[in-house]
Amino acid sequence: MNAEAGEVVRISFAELVELLSAIFARHGAPAHLAATLAANCAMAERDGAHSHGVFRIPFYVSTLRSGYVDVHAVPVVEQFSPSLIRVDARNGFAQVALAAAAESAVAKARAGGICLVAIRASHHLGALWIDTEAFARQGLVAIAFVNGISRVAPFGGHMPFFGTNPMSFAAPRQGTDPIVFDQASSAMAFGDVKLAQIEGREVPPGTGVDRDHRPTTDPAAILDGGALLPFGGYKGSSISMMVELMAGALTGGAFSFEVDRSAFPGAQTSKSGQCLIIIDPSKVAAGDYASRVEALIEGLKAAGQERLPGERRYANRREAERHGIPLARKILAELHSLRDAAA
Ligand code: NDP
Repeated sequence: MNAEAGEVVRISFAELVELLSAIFARHGAPAHLAATLAANCAMAERDGAHSHGVFRIPFYVSTLRSGYVDVHAVPVVEQFSPSLIRVDARNGFAQVALAAAAESAVAKARAGGICLVAIRASHHLGALWIDTEAFARQGLVAIAFVNGISRVAPFGGHMPFFGTNPMSFAAPRQGTDPIVFDQASSAMAFGDVKLAQIEGREVPPGTGVDRDHRPTTDPAAILDGGALLPFGGYKGSSISMMVELMAGALTGGAFSFEVDRSAFPGAQTSKSGQCLIIIDPSKVAAGDYASRVEALIEGLKAAGQERLPGERRYANRREAERHGIPLARKILAELHSLRDAAA
């Protein structure tokens, strides 16, 4: 879906969720799954996180139609210990698996100070801040890791190996939005490279290599037989390795390089893993955690940081709440077509 497609209209969050739900339902998702995925995509679009907003709808539809994900999967939640929840997503979407474990994860973190949620056999095609911010809004610190499909060469290599492997961190603040970062460990998220390809834009140097291992700024050359590169050279490569070990090995999920979608043409997700660490700062911090957070933020601003991670999204959210979510009319028409298409 091309975001640079002419006239822009505004749509409310509720209207967008309803439309996206209808699309997912049309293409095989039962009502509860359609509502979960729709809310997830609509939140990303509302916040201006375009690589995981409506742009992703055709990817979801293609995945649903491929039969790769079990849309009827009921996650099995194992309350393994006072600080560990293990979830078998049973080949369903990670958001559904996390929703099944979230309430007990909060209770465990509040009781014992920390809870690890290890989700395996799950598909994640969304933005990760949606998973962490929700915990921070309940006064908890959350860190999340997801691995995926091999697209990123390790440092020194040229072949896809790691997923784009995002990690997100969210910490509560008193009386205002949590501080949240959420970043792929590739130099650029796959969705942004794909968007650049669709819109005919080059990507910055250092984003990836072509099939002959040469550095390139052509998104098509990266996506067609080439590879993305990690951010920050060997440092980003090590972060990506950690994400594989946390989301893949620790959970019992697959590594990105093990994901095999070949039997499901059209599948756009990976059957891999997701791991979250949830901490109750009131149980851990020796002093007043909230005032320490504010002290750090004041220091950052005094030291010259112009904005905090997450602030751009929150500004977009406020704007969308006041005036509606901006969508190109052409994209809205494409969404209507997907809703009305033959299943
Ligand atoms: P970005 O590089 O756009 O942003 C990364 C983080 O840095 C964000 O928290 C952003 O905050 C913050 N940030 C950006 N610019 C500044 C600045 N000037 N000062 C301070 N902070 C800044 O994200 P990515 O492209 O790396 O990732 C995009 C999305 O893709 C993520 O949501 C990620 O979860 C998702 N993803 C999902 C995958 C999956 O398998 N499910 C795989 C890979 C990626 P802000 O948001 O406010 O701009």
